This record gives sequence, structure tokens and C-alpha cells, in this order.
Amino acid sequence: MLQPALVWDRLTAQERKEVFVFAEGYKDFLNRAKTEREAVTAIERHAQLSGFKEAHASPSHKKLYKVFKHKAIGLAVRGKMPPQEGLKIIVSHVDAPRLDLKQNPLYEEVDLALFKTHYYGGIKKYQWVSCPLALHGKIIRKDGSALDLTVGEDENDPVFTIADLLPHLARKTQYEKKLGDAVIGEKLNALAGSIPYPDREAQERVKLQILDYLHRTFGLIEEDFISAEIELVPAGKARDVGWDKSLTGAYGQDDRICAYTSLKAITEIEQPPVTVLALFLDKEEIGSEGNTSAKSRFLEDMVAAVLSHSGVTVEEHVIREALMHSHAISADVNGALDPDYQEVHEKRNAAKLGYGVCVTKFTGTGGKYASSDANAEYVGMIRRLFNQNAIVWQTGEIGKVDEGGGGTVAKFLASYGLEIIDCGTPLLGMHSPLEISSKADTYMTYKAYKVFLSKKWG
Ligand SMILES: [Zn+2]
Repeated sequence: MLQPALVWDRLTAQERKEVFVFAEGYKDFLNRAKTEREAVTAIERHAQLSGFKEAHASPSHKKLYKVFKHKAIGLAVRGKMPPQEGLKIIVSHVDAPRLDLKQNPLYEEVDLALFKTHYYGGIKKYQWVSCPLALHGKIIRKDGSALDLTVGEDENDPVFTIADLLPHLARKTQYEKKLGDAVIGEKLNALAGSIPYPDREAQERVKLQILDYLHRTFGLIEEDFISAEIELVPAGKARDVGWDKSLTGAYGQDDRICAYTSLKAITEIEQPPVTVLALFLDKEEIGSEGNTSAKSRFLEDMVAAVLSHSGVTVEEHVIREALMHSHAISADVNGALDPDYQEVHEKRNAAKLGYGVCVTKFTGTGGKYASSDANAEYVGMIRRLFNQNAIVWQTGEIGKVDEGGGGTVAKFLASYGLEIIDCGTPLLGMHSPLEISSKADTYMTYKAYKVFLSKKWG
């Protein structure tokens, strides 16, 4: 039987300190990056501070980045080898499950103003009621001007919330139903106000009062909600969890934990043997659909930028050649063995909190449907690389074969013919308003990504 190791047992006293320092930077990133747009802004800022230049602005710089539609970003560091001979690529995603406001969200019922929501990604709906929610959004006004709005993160801000039904009256409406049906999507309506408009003759006075406030404060009219992306996310900051502060509890760690660790890794690399690329994509949580997702071909655009910066004529066959010879990590989280629900996992093949970065050969559901299954040869290369560089790692699949499952962006990148494997941090409470990670695993994920990007294959 393989004997996995707890990261904590392997760390020196100095490394233990580094683990906690690293976690502070991570929490700060989580607090600033609660939406995909905010994540892209935070990543761009970190890249700029680390000496990266926008690809168009600086044609011969060694460290470059490209932002795509404010929702995806790519960073590259040119290596010693020509890029046509292959790159090393890490791909994470910066979108997270949440409640989006509908395009016609504001209404009034029983003298209360409410927002209708439409959930995004895989949520357990009952987890999103009776908790404080913050509003983060981009609104395009009638005249085309844009408004970025964040309400609910400052302690003096109001929050929004979905009031749950009292237990006294929940017997038929909730208790007798299956858990997944007990809170339904059309009842995820968030409280937005209760003071009526002064004119007693007016219709829907509470809604009118909110519209009046939005107009006076932000110059908004009701129709502006149609050209808007407004997300309700759990309000508040990332926290330490446990007496020993060894765990991080926060919203959106899937997959900003892999985004942050790969960002830190690539921005600390000066002269890699091969050109390295970190991509931060959107829309993974809804199957990588849409023009900012892993299906958007932004990767090809990024490779084209790298090629032209290296003085190579950009042609489709050259981009294909570069990608065919590339090695990639699909940097996404994995569900850790849950102490209370161990029966859904197959313990010999489950990731555990505290045992380091998790290498997952394949994802998908049932008979490996919708998965990218890494080649044994490539798994061997990753394994040797990690072992030679003191990376504490484990292997794990998401759960029992017939229990469920899920996919990542790996299969979309695999279509280029590159080698790719899933490798990321295990989480407890994935997709919940308070996901849990181990600070030791977070640090080890960063170490693993840095080794992958900066070292030659052993
Ligand atoms: Zn994910």
C-alpha cells in the first residue's frame, strides 16, 4: 500500500512559516477577486507589478500578458527553447458558482422589494438562503457608459439576503421533499428594500423607492438591468478555520486557489527552459461554454502572441505544432475525502486534506464519460518531476465510480493533442458559500506549479 504523507510532517520550521505567509497573500487575493472580472483585474495588476507587459504594447518583452473581454487573462514567460518545440501551460478558471440577477430582476411583493436571481453553476440551493450576500456587478447604462458596483463587502454597506421559510411552517413545503427540491430556483429571491416612495398614489411604491435611489445615486434606470451582469456572492472576507488556523475558509476557492498558486508560480519565474503560459479562464462552471471559456480559442491567440514575440511568423500550422508538443496542467480543485460522508468516496483513491497537491489522471462521470484521461507516460513524467523536487503530492479521483462526478477544462485542451493532466488542491465543501482548503496543500500546489513551469523533465 502506498503511504501518502501529511505535508505538515514534511515541512521544516522555516517552510511552516512560509505556508502561513503564503496563505495571507491568498486570502487577500480571494477578498479582491470575488467575480471573474475582479479576478482578471487582480491578476493583471499582480502581473504588471511583477514586470509583465501587455502583449501588444511591448512586442519584444520576455514577460507578457493578454486580457480577453475582461473575463479571461493569459500570462507568458518566454523560454530558452523555440516555442514551436512546445510550451508548458497551466490552465485554471476564475468563475465560481453564484446567483446572477435576472435581466428583469426588481419587483415588489407584500410591500417588500426583491431581486429575482438565476443561479450560475452547480450549487446546492439550500446553502444560499439566510446568509448575507454581496452584490458585485457591471452595468451598462442607456448612454453606453459603464458602472462597476460592489455593495456588501464593507462592514458599513448593506447586504442582501434570501429569507428562508420558518421551520414551523416548512413541513409540507420543504421537509417532505427531496433536499434538492426543498429550495427551488424561483424562490431564490433576495430582499432589496422595504421603504415606500412618499407619493401614496403611486403604484409599487417600495420598488419605486429603490429605483429612485438607484437613479439618484448611480444614474440608473430600470432598463439598465438588462445590459448588466450582477452577481450575488457570499458577503465577507476569507477566514482562518480551526484553533491552529491551518485551514482557509472562503467563497470561490474553486478555482481561485489554483489561479492564485499558478499566478504566484509564473510571476516568480525568470528564465524557464521552455516558454511557459498560465491561462485564467471563465465559464468552466457551466461547461466551458461561451466566448471567454476554454472553448474560446483564447489559448491559440496567446500562443500566437508568444510566437510573434519570439520572432516566429505566426501561421496556423506553427500554432498547432507548438500546441501538439506542449505539456499542460489542468489546474482545478478536487473534492477531498469528507469526514462525514466517507461513503461517497473510494478511500484508496480519494484525495485527503493535508496530503499535498492532488494529481488526478482522469475526471468525468460513470465510465470515464466526458473525461480527459492522461497518458501513463505523461503521468510518469509528472510523478518523477514532483518526486525529484520534494513536492508532497497525492493522487485522487472525485468519488466512487457510480456516485456522480464532474469534469474540468482538460478535455478541451486535450483536443490540441497536447499532454494534459488534472492537478490541483483538494477542497472540502466544494461549491458551497464557505469552501475549505488546507494551507499546507495550497502552498504545495504553488510549489508543484513552480517546479512544473521552471524545471526540465527529469
Ligand atoms: Zn473548478
